Order: sequence, then C-alpha cells, then structure tokens
Amino acid sequence: MPKEKKGKKPHKNKPTSRKYAKYQVHGDSITRARSCPRCGPGVFLMVAKDRVYCGKCHYSEFTGKDNKT
Ligand SMILES: [Zn+2]
Repeated sequence: MPKEKKGKKPHKNKPTSRKYAKYQVHGDSITRARSCPRCGPGVFLMVAKDRVYCGKCHYSEFTGKDNKT
C-alpha cells in the first residue's frame, strides 16, 4: 500500500442512514414512522423512551404516558 499523503485521511465507509427501516409495507399500505412537524415528511424523529427528537432541526416532543403540560 502506498504511503498516504499528509493531510489526507484514508476513506472509511460510513453506515447508511437506514431510512428505509422507517417504512414498513403491509400489503398495499405503507406505515411510516413519525416524521418531523417542522421539517415535514421524509425527516423522521428519533424515538427515545419518553420523547421524540428531530436531529435536523432539534425539535423534541415528550411522549410520556402522563403528559403534564
Ligand atoms: Zn425537524
């Protein structure tokens, strides 16, 4: 393997976003995961134990069972 030039890092493959995992097809219908109300469809929310979070616009929404507002 030739010596890498200084300042150039070797390329590493990153894992894909797995956005396809947010869609589930049931026969003719498609079930989508919750998407961001700010970013619109296509941007999905990260689901935590008691909240959902958008990594794009940092929108977060609490989904606790006892929703005290
Ligand atoms: Zn968003």
